[in-house]
Amino acid sequence: MDPNPYTEDYTQASEYLRIALVLLSKYKVPPSPDNFRMGYDSASGRNEALRTAFEQIAGKQDGSCAENLWRLYSHTYIGNDKAMASMRQELRKIITNMQGQFDQSGKGLANYADTLSHFSELLDGSASPETMAAEVDKVIEDTRATEESQKQLGQQLTSIAAEVATLRNELEQVRQESLIDALTGIANRKAFDSALETSFHEAREQESSFCIMLADIDYFKNFNDTHGHLVGDKVLRFVASTLKRCVKGKDMVARFGGEEFAIILPQTDLQGADAVAEEIRKTVSAGQLKDKKSGNFYGRVTISIGIARFTDRDLPNDLVQRADKALYLAKERGRDRVEQAA
Ligand code: GH3
Ligand code: MG
Ligand code: MG
Repeated sequence: MDPNPYTEDYTQASEYLRIALVLLSKYKVPPSPDNFRMGYDSASGRNEALRTAFEQIAGKQDGSCAENLWRLYSHTYIGNDKAMASMRQELRKIITNMQGQFDQSGKGLANYADTLSHFSELLDGSASPETMAAEVDKVIEDTRATEESQKQLGQQLTSIAAEVATLRNELEQVRQESLIDALTGIANRKAFDSALETSFHEAREQESSFCIMLADIDYFKNFNDTHGHLVGDKVLRFVASTLKRCVKGKDMVARFGGEEFAIILPQTDLQGADAVAEEIRKTVSAGQLKDKKSGNFYGRVTISIGIARFTDRDLPNDLVQRADKALYLAKERGRDRVEQAA
C-alpha cells in the first residue's frame, strides 16, 4: 500500500479546503468529490501540473468543461490504477497458463513412470523375447515423447519468463511515473518525502549528517503575469535542469511544489551545502532564457535559497521548516541570495 499523501494536520487541511473552495467557486466548478479532490490537491501545491491543467480547463467555461475535468480526474487518479489492473490481469493469465502446462507435463511424466515400472516388472519375470521387444519399443517411444514434451515445457517456460520480465518493466515505469513531476521531469514531492525519510534513517544509523536546501524562484508571479504561464513553465524546466546539473550523483533534486524546489545533499556539512547553493544561485541568474521565435531575452531569473543541516533531534518536518525559515530570510534580505538556518 502507498503511504498516505494527506498527512497535514487539522488547521493546515482546513486551510487547503478553504483555498480549494475559493478555486472551485472562482470558476463556478461544482464541488463534487472529484472536482473537490482536484481543487484540494491544487490548493495544497502537491500537484502543480494538475493545478495548471485544472485552471486551464475550468477557465475556458465552455460546454466541454465538465467532461474535460472528468478526463483530467481520470488521468490523474485512475490512470495508474487502470495500468495496475491490466498488469494484474496479464499476470493472472500467465499463471493460469503455466498451471495448465505443469498439469499436462505432470500427467505425461506420470504415464512415463508407469511405463518404466511396468517394464521393470517385466525384467523380473520371464517374458518372451517378442513381448520384451515390443515393450522395449514402447519404452523408447515413450521416452522420446516425454523428452519432446519436456523440451516444449522448457521453451514455454523461457517465453513465460520473458513475458514476466516485460511486465516487470511496465510496472517499474508506472511506479516511476508516480514519483516524477510531469512538468519538469524531476522527482516530485512524494519522491522527495520518501527520500528524506531514508536520509533520516541513514544519518541516524551511520551517525552522519546531511543538508537540505529549499530554493524558490524570485518574483515568479510577475514573470507569469508579464510573459504568460507557458513561459513560466519554461522557466520552471530551466531551473529544474540547472539544479540537476549543479549537483552530484547522490544528491536528490525535487520539485517541492509550485515554483519551489528541494535538494537533499547526503554526507554534506553546512559549508559544503552553502558552496553548492551559491553555485546554483549564480548559474541560475547567469542563465539567458529567450523567446525562440523573436530571439528576445525574457529577463533574468533569480532564486533564493534556504539551507538547513540535519541534527539528531530533528523530525523530517523540523528540518524542512528550518530550511523554509532560512529561505524566508533570504527573501527578506533582498532575494537572489543564500541563507543558512540558525
Ligand atoms: P517571491 O519572490 O516572494 O517568491 O515572489 P513570487 O511571485 O515568486 O511568489 P508567489 O508565491 O507570490 O507566486 C508564486 C507564483 O508561482 C504563483 C503561481 O502562479 C506560480 N506558479 C506556481 N506553479 C506554477 C506552474 O506550474 N507553472 C507556472 N507557470 N506558474 C506557477
Ligand atoms: Mg513560493
Ligand atoms: Mg517565488
